[in-house]
Amino acid sequence: MKILPEKAMIGVLGGGQLGRMAIEAASALGYRCHVFAPDGDAPATNIAAASTRANYTDTTALKAFANSVESVVCEFENVPVEAMDMLAQHVPVCPGSKALRVAQHRLSEKDKARALGIATPRYAAVKDSASLAEALIRFGGGILKTCRMGYDGKGQMRLTADTNPDTAFAQLGSDDLILEEMVDFTAEASFLVARDHQGEIEVWPASINQHRDGILHFSEAPALSDVLTPALWDAGKAAVIALAEDLELTGVLAAEMFITRDGNLLFNEIAPRPHNSFHWTIEGSETSQFSQLIRVAAGLPMGRVDATGRWRMTNILGEDMPLLDAAMAEPGVYIHRYGKAEARTGRKMAHLNQRIT
Ligand code: AMP
Repeated sequence: MKILPEKAMIGVLGGGQLGRMAIEAASALGYRCHVFAPDGDAPATNIAAASTRANYTDTTALKAFANSVESVVCEFENVPVEAMDMLAQHVPVCPGSKALRVAQHRLSEKDKARALGIATPRYAAVKDSASLAEALIRFGGGILKTCRMGYDGKGQMRLTADTNPDTAFAQLGSDDLILEEMVDFTAEASFLVARDHQGEIEVWPASINQHRDGILHFSEAPALSDVLTPALWDAGKAAVIALAEDLELTGVLAAEMFITRDGNLLFNEIAPRPHNSFHWTIEGSETSQFSQLIRVAAGLPMGRVDATGRWRMTNILGEDMPLLDAAMAEPGVYIHRYGKAEARTGRKMAHLNQRIT
């Protein structure tokens, strides 16, 4: 694709903090952004040069948006594939329809991983309580998840072999579910790949992630070799490259993986957008995930992704706001606030980046 000139308008689908940080990166590269999102007072909308408040199914609004931008990036993976297809007829898009479609459904992303030879936990499609009962016996319990729209541990239940399948099935209120075996893991790792419109690829050093109540608490990167051995790093890197190529990714894609107690890497899920576990790249990498996404969208050459030391990224949720105040006075702590109106419990309000070695 041709390189976009300075001041060109880049479209951002989604109004959250990922979009906001993409806009900050776009601004540094001289671009302006137009946010398309259903909600008004949103982190990205508040700093965009232009915004459209409409639903992703509003084709009239989408067409007008397509005519006002030179390229589009997606910060939200549940944008309808039809909207992405429509935009792709007018302008280059990130991440592309194929990546979006597969990432929107937990079964299809695991099927895709398996088809590419990437190891996954055992899993089964659950359509009714009979299929749940059968899978519960086979896996001796497990995690039941909705296939669509789950995030930060929402739409999930931990089940034992004795759980009543009728009750559990009724509780999630969907007939599009997946039961995964319970993985005995020692660490959770994530891998991030970027691929441009010419098919060039970059892979950042991996992150090791710690969750709290199902929400990412902190990430440290690059992963140390006693946690992520060189063999596991090679396997994870090969996995994200295979996924990016097969899904014809444009932009960035993260894969979350488990490091099992017996030393294997098992695929959990993908997100075809910037990922919370790589927010450390803003100060900690030669090119941040946001800057790389904008470079791809603008047709610029990709930047190098080496880490500039070891970094820790800590999420600040609504209940952690006092921590943020304390961090303001600490030297060497980089603060990124998302400008959200209300600090609710469990809501991501900001993150801190700190070099640890
Ligand atoms: P997810 O939404 O799939 O990322 O799941 C949220 C969190 O639940 C993960 O980061 C893990 O800590 C945990 N989890 C998810 N799936 C499994 C699994 N199959 N076995 C063990 N823990 C899991």
